[in-house]
Amino acid sequence: MSLIDAGRDLTVATRSRLSETEASALVARLFGIKGRAHRLDGEYDENFRIDSADKAYVLKVAAPGERADLVDVQVAALRHLKQGNPRVARTEIDGVTRWVRLLDFVPGVLMADVSPQSAPLLRSLGAKIASIDLALSDFDHQAAHRELQWDLLRTSQLTEDARRITGARGQIATTLLQRIELEVLPIAERLQRQVIHGDPNDYNVIVAEDRVVALIDFGDVVHSATVCDLAIATAYAMTGKNDPLGAAAHVVAGYDAVLRLEDAERRVLFPLILARLLMSVVISAARKERAPDEAYYTVHEERAWRVLEQLHQVPFEIAQHVILSEAKDLLSPPGDSSAGDGDILSRRRALLGANLSLSYEKPLHIVRGWKQYLYDADGREFLDAYNNVAHVGHSHPRVVEAVARQMAVLNTNTRYLHENVLEYAERLRAKLPEPLRGGVCWFVNSGSEANELALRLARAFTGQRDVIVMEGGYHGNTQRMIEVSPYKFNGPGGEGCPPDVHVVPIPDVYRRRLQRHPERSEGSVVAVAVAALRKRDRAPSAFLVESLPSVAGQIVLPPGYLRDAFAAVRSAGGVCVVDEVQVGLGRVGSEFWGFELQDVVPDIVVMGKPLGNGQPLGAVVTTREIATAFANGMEYFNTFGGNPVSAAAGLAVLDVLEDEGLQHNAQDVGSYLLEQLRELQTRHAVIGDVRGAGFFIGVELVSDRETLEPATQETSAVVNGLKESGILTGTEGPHHNVIKIRPPMCFDRGNADSLVDRLDAVLTRSSLL
Ligand code: PMP
Repeated sequence: MSLIDAGRDLTVATRSRLSETEASALVARLFGIKGRAHRLDGEYDENFRIDSADKAYVLKVAAPGERADLVDVQVAALRHLKQGNPRVARTEIDGVTRWVRLLDFVPGVLMADVSPQSAPLLRSLGAKIASIDLALSDFDHQAAHRELQWDLLRTSQLTEDARRITGARGQIATTLLQRIELEVLPIAERLQRQVIHGDPNDYNVIVAEDRVVALIDFGDVVHSATVCDLAIATAYAMTGKNDPLGAAAHVVAGYDAVLRLEDAERRVLFPLILARLLMSVVISAARKERAPDEAYYTVHEERAWRVLEQLHQVPFEIAQHVILSEAKDLLSPPGDSSAGDGDILSRRRALLGANLSLSYEKPLHIVRGWKQYLYDADGREFLDAYNNVAHVGHSHPRVVEAVARQMAVLNTNTRYLHENVLEYAERLRAKLPEPLRGGVCWFVNSGSEANELALRLARAFTGQRDVIVMEGGYHGNTQRMIEVSPYKFNGPGGEGCPPDVHVVPIPDVYRRRLQRHPERSEGSVVAVAVAALRKRDRAPSAFLVESLPSVAGQIVLPPGYLRDAFAAVRSAGGVCVVDEVQVGLGRVGSEFWGFELQDVVPDIVVMGKPLGNGQPLGAVVTTREIATAFANGMEYFNTFGGNPVSAAAGLAVLDVLEDEGLQHNAQDVGSYLLEQLRELQTRHAVIGDVRGAGFFIGVELVSDRETLEPATQETSAVVNGLKESGILTGTEGPHHNVIKIRPPMCFDRGNADSLVDRLDAVLTRSSLL
């Protein structure tokens, strides 16, 4: 028999039997209490809130024919928990005998109606479940030893009903059910058992002052595995969240802090959570077939499906790991992390170099990332509009899995043969135009290292040392990279421009510095630098340039700039090196590389930040000719560069980019965001310029649109205000007056709307000050 048919489903049968007036009369007659009755929701019982002069109660009138022992077990459990002060009576209503209970009303709201749900609230849910499990551990009742429709340990019975689900969702249900059985069955016998509440779904959880204060409705009380209540509560806590696994981790940590989970319980927890979600969708689907007009079922079903679809994409072990990741022996009390942050700040100051900067006036203590969201130690969610390293999204399960798998097998260096690095080199090269497509790759561990290598290649090829760079440029943190980064050598602590480095003005179209030479094309400033070198009988080894200068202020180079600049450099025998560290890998949307916006092909391409989604991975790709000149007998060895784990990360990133259509997303959502920001510019005079391509965007703030006076302080205030309102951006540019927007590639239209709305609000608020 199917599980659905076996279960009791009295909802329809019992609906609206008793009027509110009749309920008031009943309470007066049976319990001597005068009060007004208001109907409450109830699946099996008919429930009313009774407001008397001094107190509120809940009246529960059981369905006709309800078994006496089932009423008794509920009352006994409540009495054992010292909750609700239950009074019981049996009476005739319309000639039918029914059980009637009166309980104290618990003030508060239903967890299902609380949004958003904070980390302390989620932890308090776990803690409440644990304290009830503890309190019921020495309680028993014969009626609790029964077979229930919702018993999570009997998921195998769902298989038949799951066949009603067709298409992709049917596939998900079948795959997950198989996995659940595989995980749970072998250890089901070893699980700790006791009487549990049986259904702490979010309509049975009462919240007051951001804490769970009680579980209500003990109608499903049952003798089962202790861990089932935690699994059920967690399953519902995951619905409606951007990061369901993170939400689950809070609930589980709250539980574990009160009642330590046993090893077997840890192992079955995630499968049981899945089991509850599946049970919910399977039973809802079946009930919907019977009562298609019941919107209640559809709502539950849809929100459970959304979580299941999200979880289905995450490798099982990773989900399990995240869910248990916050459960530790000693947890700081919920909401007490500000004290912890003070501590972490002073420890950092004592332990790390003082010139490692922290973002924002009040620094963030981020403990988890998921897709385009980051979470602080208090569980507060931030929309990440800044991070281009987590290119395909924070903690992307496919990247995590690829890295973990390879790390578990082998991590060595390029002195042994290995497929990964070769496959990655092939895949990366294939993304480049000729002649780089047939060129040669090196793998390193950072953008700085990659730029270092690029300049060594240029020097080996040309025999020259001079380098031409762009005003405001940044290329890395090593000594030579500081020497070729005007942003650094002209900035605080800098030693000025070295004699073999030559800076050309930045073609900042908004600020139009180049108007001093309106007769020249913008790229011809590089020709001027080359000519100056030639006069001194010197020639450039390299022109090193970011395809879209970032720290210089999120600049988009004017059309034709690199074409003219490259021609000048090459005419003097120099090599053109494009630094794609910030913008490569589809970020600009319409193209895969930033330089493609300029219709040029560099001699050397430098890549970094996004390649490994956070796994350190940089790359240099050049032509065969340049590579040959570098192979002069000196070995190039890089201990970590090109290791199988980093290559696995790089491959997974390329797979996800392609499979999830993220370059197209950057184009689509990026253009939409630019449009919306330009619309905002018409309403806020402080926005002087909005520029960018795809997901590489700058919003320049000026206090005067004529003089372009930089609104430096306001920019800092706006970025901090955005952060306070839950959105992470940064500041950039020589005057620190450009808001930098550079989100993970999965940023969606809804995220773009949130960003624009909150920027609007922050700007409105600051203009009122
Ligand atoms: N080039 C550019 C354009 C960069 O923005 C950066 C880092 N911000 C680097 C190179 C250096 O990369 P890394 O910090 O990985 O050494």
